[in-house]
Amino acid sequence: MKLVRFLSRKNKKNWFAVWLNVVVMFGFLVTAAQSYAGENNADMRAFLEQMPKAELHLHLEGSLDPQTVSRLANNNDLNFFNSADDVKKSLSNREPGLNGFLSHYNKALQVLKTQDDFYNATYELLRILDQNNIIYVDLFFDPQEHTRRGISFDEFFNGIDKGRIEGEKAFGIKVNLIMCINRNLSVQSAIEALEQAENYKDKIIGFGMDSGPEYGNPPLKFKDVFARARREGYYLTGHHDVHVQDSVKHIWQSLDIIKLDRIDHGLDAVNDAELVTALRERNICLTGSPVKRTSDPEPQDIDAIRKLDDNGVCVSLHSDDPGQFESGYLSNMMILVQEAGEFSKADMTRLMLNAFRALWLSDEEKKSYINKLKTYAAANTVVWNEVTRTKSK
Ligand SMILES: [Zn+2]
Repeated sequence: MKLVRFLSRKNKKNWFAVWLNVVVMFGFLVTAAQSYAGENNADMRAFLEQMPKAELHLHLEGSLDPQTVSRLANNNDLNFFNSADDVKKSLSNREPGLNGFLSHYNKALQVLKTQDDFYNATYELLRILDQNNIIYVDLFFDPQEHTRRGISFDEFFNGIDKGRIEGEKAFGIKVNLIMCINRNLSVQSAIEALEQAENYKDKIIGFGMDSGPEYGNPPLKFKDVFARARREGYYLTGHHDVHVQDSVKHIWQSLDIIKLDRIDHGLDAVNDAELVTALRERNICLTGSPVKRTSDPEPQDIDAIRKLDDNGVCVSLHSDDPGQFESGYLSNMMILVQEAGEFSKADMTRLMLNAFRALWLSDEEKKSYINKLKTYAAANTVVWNEVTRTKSK
């Protein structure tokens, strides 16, 4: 009653004082909430940036940023992509989907001509990966894209390999190489690429398949080539891009007939419950790449990644072609994915754990990488049982 009397209409000054207090209090709460959220964001960003990482889906040819592409184009006297703006324009004007992407990609990689170009591209890429705290990388390269431009396998491969060896030493990153055949080219051309790699077999860990269109170029087309690569000791992987006609059918072929060790992309598997079970039970990992173009409001396919993860499929996050997407390199991509999907630190750690689980290394070597992640999680008070989704004892 006293308050009512105090705030009686006769006492306008007191009404004003209360109103002012409410406004000030509200402002204070909003500012506090904003600064808490800001701190939270900053803390999460730092957590993701500093996390030790493995990058398993990264194309050397797609890693060149617009500045590097235009510099190489000018050095090599090419009459296209002579400024970074030209490259950016081509990137933003490309058609949506894989075909639009490939039309830019196949043009941009032509700026790589000399052995030194390949060396520098590889070495500089490893410098950036080190800044992203990447401690292990499986790096793709596309031999046919270079040999069909008249650059011999020996010429470009020696450049890449020198960059790899020196980069490993300088930055302390472990690098393995995966040669990818182009699925749109002939079987004979794929066999020739495999034969050209003969002398470098001990320097190449995997044999993959990329490019497109994927529809009409199923994994079965290269059944015998994959079988031969397997006999020669390569691990096998292949691209199965998202939202592509027949991609689920292609993943089944790769699992049951080709027997790939890993699937690149493969997120369309989420549409087939039996396939999800098969991937989980056979422990086949998917190297997802939820890239973001300038026109995308957020990274793509986050729901598919969440569903696959919730169903126990080994799915991980990778940057694919960081020079050609706004999502860029792995740390930035992980920040975008975390923000858009509101994933917890334990979730983000599990997605990285999946990458380390997918390494083509001995159990002992894998364990040593996983222990690094485990130590990092502990130092950041992330509960490992929440990462692995196992019950504590
Ligand atoms: Zn790719």
